Amino acid sequence: MPHTRFLLSALLAVLLPAYTNAADDELIIVQEGDLPLVISAPHGGALELPGAPIRIGEGLKKGASGFFAGRDTGTEELALLVVKLLDEKLPGAPSCVISRVHRKYVDFNRPAEIGVEHEKARTLHDSWHLALRTSVNRIRETHGAGLLIDLHGQGSSASTVFRGTSHGLTVQQLKKRHGESAHAGEHSLTGILKQSGWTMHPDPFSGREQAGFTGGHIVRTYGSHKPDGIDAIQLELGADYRKASARHKVATQLADAIVRYCELYLPTNLPSSTQSTQ
Ligand SMILES: [Zn+2]
Repeated sequence: MPHTRFLLSALLAVLLPAYTNAADDELIIVQEGDLPLVISAPHGGALELPGAPIRIGEGLKKGASGFFAGRDTGTEELALLVVKLLDEKLPGAPSCVISRVHRKYVDFNRPAEIGVEHEKARTLHDSWHLALRTSVNRIRETHGAGLLIDLHGQGSSASTVFRGTSHGLTVQQLKKRHGESAHAGEHSLTGILKQSGWTMHPDPFSGREQAGFTGGHIVRTYGSHKPDGIDAIQLELGADYRKASARHKVATQLADAIVRYCELYLPTNLPSSTQSTQ
């Protein structure tokens, strides 16, 4: 299938160190799949954005929802591997939008007025959000419901993964259809990940999400609290989950958890997916 070939070339690009001068259209890895799943990773890239200066954030407030230019190391590679594993484990392909460009040039998890300081960055920011919007719209139209996983890295606690849903707001459709336990119970995505050995926060899962990791621009734009959104969960991974030596294990655990989530909460009887999900 075409998407598989595209993904393979994207994987090669990441794995081959010589591959450093990507063209503009190779700065974001986009896969348009047929499953009700989309994986995004906006901050893992390391490439330069040719012709654009490094952002300086003049006059902007710094930190959690403001200006920040640090890279979420390891999340680009991890996201790609999760997409590949989901492709193998599920009867269809997930969608993905994964940045290869360094966050110091553009921040896709902020509105343009914070994440963009140059025309080239603006074009790329527009492309990113067009790709994600296209996937989310297709998922809503085809399946009626879906899941967006937005992958990030945090430096506060190496052993912890912080869930960000704006305290359940961005998974409103999931809670409405399957009850509060689908968000905060033993068989929620958070619960499934904990069972596979991850240290999750909040725990208990019904607790308040950590300030600064409650979910950024992406989950707040595409989450199911919006009439044109799908359930959206931000995961902020500590360093233990992003180091290269743990990558295959972590990607497998996350892909398996997403597969389980699909079985419990999403229609995946592809290709026609005639099951009503309204
Ligand atoms: Zn991030």
